[in-house]
Amino acid sequence: MSASPASRLRDLPGVDDVMRHAGGAALVTRFGRAEAAEAIRAAVAEARTALRSGADAEISREAVAAEAGRRLAARDRSSLRPLFNLTGTVLHTNLGRALLAETALTAAAEAAGHAVALEYDLDTGRRGERDDHVRALLREVTGAEDGTVVNNNAAAVLLVINTFAAGREAVVSRGELVEIGGSFRIPELMTQAGATLREVGTTNRTHPKDYVAGFGPDTGLVMKVHTSNYRIEGYTKEVEAPELAGLARAAGVAFCNDLGSGTLVDLSRWGLKKEPTVREAVADGADLVTFSGDKLLGGPQVGFVVGRAEAVARVNRNPMKRALRVDKMRLAALEATLKLYRDPDRLDRTLPTLRLLARPAAEIRALAERVRPAAAAALPGFDVSVGDCRSQIGSGALPVDTIPSAGLFVRAGGDALGRLAAALRALPRPVIGRVSEGALVLDLRCLEDEAGFIATLQDLPHPHAVP
Ligand SMILES: *Cc1c(COP(=O)(O)O)cnc(C)c1O
Repeated sequence: MSASPASRLRDLPGVDDVMRHAGGAALVTRFGRAEAAEAIRAAVAEARTALRSGADAEISREAVAAEAGRRLAARDRSSLRPLFNLTGTVLHTNLGRALLAETALTAAAEAAGHAVALEYDLDTGRRGERDDHVRALLREVTGAEDGTVVNNNAAAVLLVINTFAAGREAVVSRGELVEIGGSFRIPELMTQAGATLREVGTTNRTHPKDYVAGFGPDTGLVMKVHTSNYRIEGYTKEVEAPELAGLARAAGVAFCNDLGSGTLVDLSRWGLKKEPTVREAVADGADLVTFSGDKLLGGPQVGFVVGRAEAVARVNRNPMKRALRVDKMRLAALEATLKLYRDPDRLDRTLPTLRLLARPAAEIRALAERVRPAAAAALPGFDVSVGDCRSQIGSGALPVDTIPSAGLFVRAGGDALGRLAAALRALPRPVIGRVSEGALVLDLRCLEDEAGFIATLQDLPHPHAVP
């Protein structure tokens, strides 16, 4: 490195020169001529700028091609690439909620790559309906007379309100005016759906007489909303679904029960807290029940409206339905997912969501003990220990209803933890944990690819040891 900067500037390789060289040619093969040339040009320009400012720069054709390769790889990397969800929240809305079962993945891929009878009746050769692919299954697993599928549960609720209460009133208890997160808030949804919200009762207590007083000639709908993410305790009273169904029927008002997550099976058999099942909500007499596909059900993002045949038929006649429908990939994945419920005994093996939620803490702890040495070696300067923690179901399930779990606790002084968390996020396969009480906690409940995790930690740039 004794040559003067000016002479080294003269030695900078040309773009064509790098492209003909082995490293550059490999980039052309992988990314195409235009992309490779652009990246090499940028790499040469960066070296030139560095040399002009008196800084050092590697200017061999190999070095320039390698820098261009790094740029191309970063540009090519998908922001939707798989990551390790070690947040401890199994159904993490920001990380894409449920993981699909094997059979659902295969079904979605098949449907995506082929023509399928999406709206075509193979028996008659005439037009069919999208919902026909899951209608019978929905009846089977929920006990409802009929059902339909839309983009997500927010869409299902919007569609029900718009169908039954546009230009009219929708009655909801003040104790159930929920915000789910993001922008799903019942009062705002009512406005957007064209309905006037008629609040009844108080925050902590709503009585049957409150509903009755709220019903009038303009009432189009009464809704019960599952308060999944908070709890009102103490001096409280709510009108349960069977009683509310009776009041609504007597008043001639349609009744929709929004379950939110809505599970198809009793989760207590896997040691989880019992959530109201869709079958129970249907049996409790609601005209319509709405719930999500990618929460506890463990399928693709969809929203369901199931219930009485004539109520579902009214929803289907709403022109808004077309704007909220789902594509063939999701329908195929959904059909495969619902079929798994025909064998409930094996759900904790076939359905990733249940498999992860039902995973025993002792098994997770043993996993943590196994990966700790490799993690400690990959994180010099950090204190890495195994500890107990609590996982959450997520997606609006009660945040205080946690499940015992275990994981790695990474500790360090100063702002080293923040920098480590950023380095983990920047990995080719990012690792996402949570910072809690001065430690970066990696809850291993959702870690199934043990070898892949250890390999990923080797990708961390060195050194990140704290001084
Ligand atoms: C999650 C939830 C919704 C919204 O469902 P998405 O599938 O996220 O659209 C609606 N209502 C309740 C009670 C919920 O918990």
